[in-house]
Amino acid sequence: MATPLTGVAWRVAAALSLLGAACGPGGGRPDTSDGDGRPSASTTTTTAAPATGTRGTSGPSAPGTTGKRAQAPTTARGSDATSAPNPTIRRTAVRAPGQFAGVLLAPGAAHTLVLDVRVQPGASADGDTIGRTAELMRAQSGKPVAIHGPTSLSDSAQTHDADAIRRLADTQGEADGADVAVLHLFYLSGRFADDGVLGVAVRADTLAVFPDEIASATSPFVSAARIERAVVTHELGHVLGLVDLYLETNRDDAEHPGHSTNRGSVMYYAVESDLVAQLFGGPPPVDFDSSDLADLRAIRAGAAPQG
Ligand SMILES: [Zn+2]
Repeated sequence: MATPLTGVAWRVAAALSLLGAACGPGGGRPDTSDGDGRPSASTTTTTAAPATGTRGTSGPSAPGTTGKRAQAPTTARGSDATSAPNPTIRRTAVRAPGQFAGVLLAPGAAHTLVLDVRVQPGASADGDTIGRTAELMRAQSGKPVAIHGPTSLSDSAQTHDADAIRRLADTQGEADGADVAVLHLFYLSGRFADDGVLGVAVRADTLAVFPDEIASATSPFVSAARIERAVVTHELGHVLGLVDLYLETNRDDAEHPGHSTNRGSVMYYAVESDLVAQLFGGPPPVDFDSSDLADLRAIRAGAAPQG
């Protein structure tokens, strides 16, 4: 229900960060706003200053193509998205992960972006990560980005598959507007249907992270906050077309399509895996590498997707 996010415990990053080292160079710390989930025009924070440049998103999951969202039973939508959805935005938003990259990054249909954050009871979201994610969107697109939420999600499931997550976007997510493209970021309790998944991109406009799984993937050297930042950025990267989900640069990992071969990139496949701490032996990367950034610039400049 639309329970205000009273309970959305902003995860105190301090919790596991006995070793402050965990927080790498990764991005700045944008303003975050925790909105209480309220109807419409919920918490809206617009990021302004241009800043860091990186973001990431996650795995190329099953493209779900289905209807668009319906009004949320409890939580209403944001104000920006009040007008009738732009057909191009609407059509593209429900395609496979990565296909929304042109709408999000290049000038055109979407003049404003919304990061619609929904948190299932029992899950928690890190405010710094949300703020940083919005800032990355803003920096890479040059468009204003508003954070709506976090708003409470009405869902009691403890195992989520891609279809169910897409359904949440359709039924409880905020709708796109005439020139507003909405990106849904869900914090879900429990786990994904497949084992070992810390985060997923299930549709061009929808990503989800699993804080319980992230908590299980920590180590004495890697905090949950650090992993969350890496995973959300990784999933965002997928939504923004990385790697080779929008353009065809032939640089993605043959064994892990949609991912970078560079262990130093947040788009490396292991970032969204529960083995992240072991595979990196320390904090995972939280930034895009120069090749990732070049792709994002190309998309923003209007590079067209491959046939
Ligand atoms: Zn991935």
